[in-house]
Amino acid sequence: MAETIVIIGAGQAGIQAVESLRKEGFTGPITMVGDEAYAPYQRPPLSKAYLLGAFERARLFLKADNYYAEAGCELILNTSAKAIHRAERVVELHDGRKLPYDKLLLATGARVRKLKCPGADLPGVHYLKTIADVDGLQAVFQAGKRIAIVGGGYIGLEVAAVGAKRGLDVTVFEAMDRLMARAVSPVLSDFYAHEHEKAGVKLKLNTGVEAFEGNGKVERVIAGGKSYDADIVLVGIGVVPCDELAVGCGLASTDGIVVDQNARTGDPHIWSAGDCTRHVGREGHEIRLECVQNAIDQAKHAALSMADKHKTYSEVPWFWSDQYDLKLQIAGLARPTDTLVLRGDPAARKFAVFHLRDGAVAAVEAVNAAPEYMIGKKLVAEGKKITAETLADTSIPMKQMA
Ligand SMILES: Cc1cc2nc3c(=O)[nH]c(=O)nc-3n(C[C@H](O)[C@H](O)[C@H](O)COP(=O)(O)OP(=O)(O)OC[C@H]3O[C@@H](n4cnc5c(N)ncnc54)[C@H](O)[C@@H]3O)c2cc1C
Repeated sequence: MAETIVIIGAGQAGIQAVESLRKEGFTGPITMVGDEAYAPYQRPPLSKAYLLGAFERARLFLKADNYYAEAGCELILNTSAKAIHRAERVVELHDGRKLPYDKLLLATGARVRKLKCPGADLPGVHYLKTIADVDGLQAVFQAGKRIAIVGGGYIGLEVAAVGAKRGLDVTVFEAMDRLMARAVSPVLSDFYAHEHEKAGVKLKLNTGVEAFEGNGKVERVIAGGKSYDADIVLVGIGVVPCDELAVGCGLASTDGIVVDQNARTGDPHIWSAGDCTRHVGREGHEIRLECVQNAIDQAKHAALSMADKHKTYSEVPWFWSDQYDLKLQIAGLARPTDTLVLRGDPAARKFAVFHLRDGAVAAVEAVNAAPEYMIGKKLVAEGKKITAETLADTSIPMKQMA
């Protein structure tokens, strides 16, 4: 008899696993459980074109409505999984249903990190993770409104760019001394700070938020000992993995469900993929990635492994961010000790920063520079050794470096 697969989490990794399982010839029943009201959708546009109003809601969905029936995937929405009973191989749902499985995939993603400070629960304090979150924000995201954004990371800055475009009065509070400090090199932080200020965004670096105040709704942000008036607050201070189901049934999790390079947990019947996982990356260090690339690639590897075809996961991580008319594309994982090589001119709004480690290309950050990104990603995959002088020389075309 065909095996039964249950997938918990109807997001990017979950739907990829369904597609890949069918592609690998798995013919048994698949059930996917999601706690949101929607079938799997892409989140990146939520803080970009969708918030701007330039991306139709229907385009968010990763599959057409009829896909699920055709793929033989039962989709249970609006329902969260409550517990995993490993000995019986059963998933228990909050509505009391019990789903037996032969193989289980945990694709539960990550939830927003909540700011813990006085006034954090006041109406008007928003987060951005789901379609429902955007719907709530859209209702008040209007020209002339003062929006205080807590966190100068990707989400905060993408919302700042959309806010500035839509005529809101935008202030970004960042506790660190530069923007996107966890993710990009100082050259890029400075470049993006300049671009945001040019668009009228007020940046408050080195400024941690201490409290929100207001009468029945948020009206002020207290940060760095000062008070700032605000009509709306958007908090974007990172995410935490949804690992409680795994922890609850005794699977290892250290800030992410621990999986091997086939996306397997310590239980031979349970796999995990996407934002909720931690794995040993291609450089030999444990990492938890929060990006579409990892959700897709790790889910593909999980599906292969579930179909008893194993392939080691060692893809180069990549990521992108859209702010104004700037496309930032990053491949590889940078380290603070890398040697940085600038190629192109930030003033021309088209440049790249290469990260050299032991003489080899370890990562690339490209702004409006598709060839640098595309070929840079290949160089990272190959660990290609190139001198800083060659990389910086824009008279040498990128394709010549490959
Ligand atoms: C606003 C925004 C912008 C982004 N922009 C980019 C970008 O530009 N580039 C990029 O690479 N990445 C971006 N990301 C990150 C990217 O969307 C995630 O890395 C990706 O969605 C991870 O896929 P996943 O399947 O692991 O998790 P998700 O897509 O989050 O799916 C997990 C699902 O599981 C559900 N779930 C959790 N627990 C349970 C439970 N117990 N029972 C049932 N269901 C459960 C969750 O509610 C969720 O629906 C962005 C994310 C956000 C929020």
